[in-house]
Amino acid sequence: MGDKKPQHQISMAASAIALRGVRLFLSVGRAAAEKRAAPPPRPRRPKTKLVLPANKLQQKVVDMLLKNTKFNKNELEALHTMYRRLVTTAQTAVPTTGSIGQPVAKVDGIDQCTFRDVMHNTFDLVTEEAVLDRVWLTWERGPTGGEGALKFETWAHGLSILLRGTDEERRVHCFAVYDLNGDGYITKDEMFTLLKNCLLKQPGDEDPDEGVRDLVELVLKKLDIDKDGKVSIDDYRQAVEKEPLLLEAFGQCLPSKRHATAFMKTLSTK
Ligand code: CA
Repeated sequence: MGDKKPQHQISMAASAIALRGVRLFLSVGRAAAEKRAAPPPRPRRPKTKLVLPANKLQQKVVDMLLKNTKFNKNELEALHTMYRRLVTTAQTAVPTTGSIGQPVAKVDGIDQCTFRDVMHNTFDLVTEEAVLDRVWLTWERGPTGGEGALKFETWAHGLSILLRGTDEERRVHCFAVYDLNGDGYITKDEMFTLLKNCLLKQPGDEDPDEGVRDLVELVLKKLDIDKDGKVSIDDYRQAVEKEPLLLEAFGQCLPSKRHATAFMKTLSTK
């Protein structure tokens, strides 16, 4: 006993800041790399009959979303215009036939590729692919999801949490992203998977796994309030209330305030 490594004594805030620092480092490097890369070729647009979303928002959908989201009517209409544009662009980029002449099934709604582009380009969510995949699944498995595409209701609901969510909504969202198997707990294995993706890209590490394991122990100590070896939503809630930086301890799931505000401005000027 008493042979704890010194880094285990780092304060809660300091360790959260260290996690952030690692992410910032990774995202700056990636942004620079992407700037250097040539822009992707524009997809060819075959002439095809399109499955387009309805022109106008149905009144019952508007009423439901006025109740369930934090958007007003004008904002919902602007969001719907944006939604139609995104879906239309994605639909026109999909070829009508597959490689053996079979028709390609078209998804009705926002597909994963479009989702990733918006998160990345509009909200500057520069995060690990694994985390972004989890954000997608969390949305896609929502009440009207599960079909490989996001209908407008799911899209608007998710955006409401991202842009104007309460603290509790934001906590539930991030927790769902990190709870990889959806069993209600973030386990050490899940933490390892999430943090490994984040840390592996650091150059010069001889045994990156060891650093990740240390980090898992460190973060578990901060989050596992009831000391049962895994993190429940209650643990997470209490820990994040004490130390808000722990909210996104395992990867960015929410846009910055700056990007959220900028996006909301574009909605109101439409
Ligand atoms: Ca779990």
